[in-house]
Amino acid sequence: MTIDIQKIRADFPILHTLVNGKPLVYLDNAATTQKPQIVIDTIVDYYSRYNSNIHRGTHHLSNLATEAHEAARKTVQRYINAEHTHEIIFTRGTTESINLVAYAFGEAFINPGDEIIFTMMEHHSNFVPWQMMCERRGVKYHVVPFDTQGDLRLDIFENLLNERTRLVAFNHVSNALGTINPAQRIIQMAHAAGAVVLLDAAQAVQHVDHDVRALDADFYVFSGHKIYGPTGIGILYGKEALLDAIPPYQGGGEMIEQVTVEKTTYNKLPFKFEAGTPNIVGAIGLAAAIDYLDALNFDEVMAHEDAVLAYGHKKLLEIEGLKIYGNAKRHTSIIPFNIEGVHHYDLGTLLDTRGVAVRTGHHCTQPIMTALGVEGTVRASLALYNNHEDIDVLVESIRQVLKILGR
Ligand code: PLP
Repeated sequence: MTIDIQKIRADFPILHTLVNGKPLVYLDNAATTQKPQIVIDTIVDYYSRYNSNIHRGTHHLSNLATEAHEAARKTVQRYINAEHTHEIIFTRGTTESINLVAYAFGEAFINPGDEIIFTMMEHHSNFVPWQMMCERRGVKYHVVPFDTQGDLRLDIFENLLNERTRLVAFNHVSNALGTINPAQRIIQMAHAAGAVVLLDAAQAVQHVDHDVRALDADFYVFSGHKIYGPTGIGILYGKEALLDAIPPYQGGGEMIEQVTVEKTTYNKLPFKFEAGTPNIVGAIGLAAAIDYLDALNFDEVMAHEDAVLAYGHKKLLEIEGLKIYGNAKRHTSIIPFNIEGVHHYDLGTLLDTRGVAVRTGHHCTQPIMTALGVEGTVRASLALYNNHEDIDVLVESIRQVLKILGR
């Protein structure tokens, strides 16, 4: 059986809308993905039938909402193959998940004299929280560079690891280069040095392998909105022993066991890290998105995305003066490029007049742009519903834009 892209496209209502009078060609999936009807219906159903706060109520609606929220946690556990449901913490997104670890793990386990390592290839969300933590804790950090192909310099990484390395943070897939980093190998190297690893899977969980136990990630983070789910919901997975050992990040709501004037004791996992009313509908919507993706054959999804990616590379490179950045050993779903003499922002804006949505700029990865020696790029990024025609429209639209620009 091969994946039926027409059927999948029919599931995403926004793909059948017009933008500036043209059929939408949505190639900004690394920023956020579109939502299938089942996710939209699930959200409407929640607000129409059983909206209620969770865990606290004794009434019918509260029980329904609580059950659905906790079932969503199980869905995430199953999808990433975590050992326990309570290792799944709901957050606002990847950024909050990383900040939580940087704060809570930093407070508990990182001390002056320690070191941490992250990479030049990180999104700012996996860069800045570590810099902030290092400043707070008086700790030194090292940044692993990448080579001209967009592969991490693992030889340099190996030399940076030492007995003082407490933590290593890196992404499985780069949002600006599309590089698939050899996560298992990097994690093994870090573990051999005694370091804990946070894997940023914001661009990986929907495109490549996402089995946290096979990867052996200590912390694994991603955002719902990049995997066909709603915004405002994300996941922090952590190994039970680590989550048990680190202190809570925020106080209030469900994270307490008992509060007295003298002292507060904390709830067990996962609630210890879920202060305040959570994004209940977000969690339920995320589970609907995961169920949707899970019902497809993931190998076929990957093969389809890879075929469209390869076609995109080939067709774009036929355009004179177009340069694609990064050509890592393994890459996925993201094509970053510039055209000689054309500002990326102008190109993006003119493509929009043709209904083609791409992203332009630094993609929250200024260190990558600095390393590439550019101010920004145009980024076409794919999801499972993109097809060869989307690439044809992109390429044809670029040619038309170049004509308008007199090139
Ligand atoms: N990490 C990577 C690799 C990303 O691509 C992104 C978003 O683009 C983030 C982190 C931050 O995700 P969010 O804004 O959903 O928190």
